[in-house]
Amino acid sequence: MVGNVLGNRYEILEKIGDGGMAFVYKAKCRILNRTVALKVLRPEFVDDEEFVLKFKNEALASASLAHPNIVNIYDVGQEDRTHYIVMEYIDGLNLKDLIKKEGPLDPFYALNITKQIAMALSQAHKNGIIHRDIKPHNILISKDGLAKVADFGIAKATTSTTITAMGSVIGSVHYFSPEQARGGYVDKSSDLYSLGIVLYEMLTGKVPFKGDTPVNIALKHINEEIIFSQEFEGKISKEIKMLVCKLTQKNQINRYQNAEELIRDIEYIENDIEPDFEEDYEYYATQKLDTLNEEIKKQISKDYKEEGAKVDMRNKKKKSNKRILTILAVFVALILSLGLTFAAYMVKDLFITKQYEMPNLENSTIDEARKRLETIGVKVQIRRELYDDSVEKDHIITQIPKEGSKIKKGQVVKVDVSKGGEPVVVPNLVRENLEEADNILEKNNLKEGIIEYEFSSLPEGTVISQKPKAFTEVEEGTGIDLVVSKGEEVKLIKVPNLIGKTIEDARTDLVGFTIGSISYKEDKTKKEGVILEQSLRAGQHVEEGTKIDLTVNEYKEEPEEESPKVVKKQISIALPEDEEIVNVLVKEIGNNSSKTIYNKEINIKEKGNIVSVPIEGTGEKEYEIYVDDALYGTTSVDFE
Ligand code: ATP
Ligand code: MG
Repeated sequence: MVGNVLGNRYEILEKIGDGGMAFVYKAKCRILNRTVALKVLRPEFVDDEEFVLKFKNEALASASLAHPNIVNIYDVGQEDRTHYIVMEYIDGLNLKDLIKKEGPLDPFYALNITKQIAMALSQAHKNGIIHRDIKPHNILISKDGLAKVADFGIAKATTSTTITAMGSVIGSVHYFSPEQARGGYVDKSSDLYSLGIVLYEMLTGKVPFKGDTPVNIALKHINEEIIFSQEFEGKISKEIKMLVCKLTQKNQINRYQNAEELIRDIEYIENDIEPDFEEDYEYYATQKLDTLNEEIKKQISKDYKEEGAKVDMRNKKKKSNKRILTILAVFVALILSLGLTFAAYMVKDLFITKQYEMPNLENSTIDEARKRLETIGVKVQIRRELYDDSVEKDHIITQIPKEGSKIKKGQVVKVDVSKGGEPVVVPNLVRENLEEADNILEKNNLKEGIIEYEFSSLPEGTVISQKPKAFTEVEEGTGIDLVVSKGEEVKLIKVPNLIGKTIEDARTDLVGFTIGSISYKEDKTKKEGVILEQSLRAGQHVEEGTKIDLTVNEYKEEPEEESPKVVKKQISIALPEDEEIVNVLVKEIGNNSSKTIYNKEINIKEKGNIVSVPIEGTGEKEYEIYVDDALYGTTSVDFE
């Protein structure tokens, strides 16, 4: 295949992968001169109409989606028996290989990838497309860290029939939702389940369910709880575990209902806000304790049901007593190991006297909610105040527990209250200069808060930090407090007295100063080598690094004998009369060197042909005369 050209346009360069249905090649589009990925249906499926259809479906499904987190489809083609899809080439790795290479990913990196996939799913779901095959092989991570979802291979428009018979399910069973495994009704939340499994794998490096056969694995998705083993205790936060739990609920209605809800919770976790999880998910986070807890609950409810059925009372009693004994034994163990608080909580739960049903508080005001619940002795606590333009200010957005749950006297219910609409996302101002920061604030309908100045290595006037932090939501008009750099810290140092000291001593005293020029003067009344003057007055304070000039006492040497007197003379040169302009150069020749002492253009026409060159010196000297670079003559002059 490599070297072939498909559709007279796509030159196949190399194979980059193979999957169950197709081979993937890197190719070059000759017309647009760009690299593309080419997915070619495996030859063994060319005659299988269902496969060909699914293959084409993939192209159709994702071609209608344009999103930075979805692999772009460019073209679909067929040449003889070769069916192919042309798509955006992602230079990077697929998520499966990334996990294989790196092992468990950093939880926040894993959340970020999950968020990007959720954004792709949000776009697809809004267009009525369910992916149905979310798995790490189908997530490509580009070199700049962008996650792109590929292979809407078995995607189907949600509007058409959504029942898939078990037999014709294609995809990877490790990531299957229970409903996919059962061949049940598949919806948006099925993709979110698979995404939950992908997140689990990113966090732990492993898939949650393994088995010998696909059926085996599928059954585990239907029946078994996903658990994080003890080795991840403390490494993965409770909130992230709860998020995985909510994504992978067996029952579709208990999961996130859409990708946006998931994105919102990821953002909460990223910003250190606890998402609005049902308390049930708490069991997940503290799994060791709660597996026992669940066991007890199951036992109890089983007993109650059996009792309710009133079958063979005598037999029942025996059985029941036995069970209660077991439960009590577990209780004793729990009391011993976990202390009385937990036990008291459990016991309280067992002997509830009066229960009420939790009303719907959503969209009522916090005052109304309080009035309603306080009459039955239930307290309402505000958990968070959030911006939400779909809920009026001071009205309740969400409640815990849900409507219809059992509540009792003395209980506290929690609510999130709306602060009204029009939140503004705080822009990042750090590293902007204050003027630009003000412009940005104005554009975002925000204003400057308290400004503080601090020394910093950042240039003066640059924002060092801001509060609230970037990307949090605040009300319009909120003041953003800024800490602004006032440049590097300036240290003042005291000028020492250096007069009378030697230059060596002065150097040790001058730590923090820059020594400028050192000049010399003679003062026979003082010792030679001592400092006579300093350019900065002693005792004053100056900035660190200031320059200081010094004058040092130096006795002048008496001239031993008079040097020979310099005599001035001149050389007269007669230039050729027939020339117009010539260059005259005269060199004084020393022992091993020569120096040019004259170099001029001479206009013979105007100035005449005789040139006088001034010279000076002592003793005897040799001169070379050049006219237009050619040696014209030499002469020796005696200065005696
Ligand atoms: P399945 O057949 O079940 O979908 P798969 O996803 O591994 O399994 P393919 O979709 O055929 O199989 O893809 C094979 C591999 O080719 C991918 O895992 C990925 O590494 C690589 N690949 C696919 N599409 C691209 C692309 N657009 N750019 C770069 N690499 C790609
Ligand atoms: Mg694939």
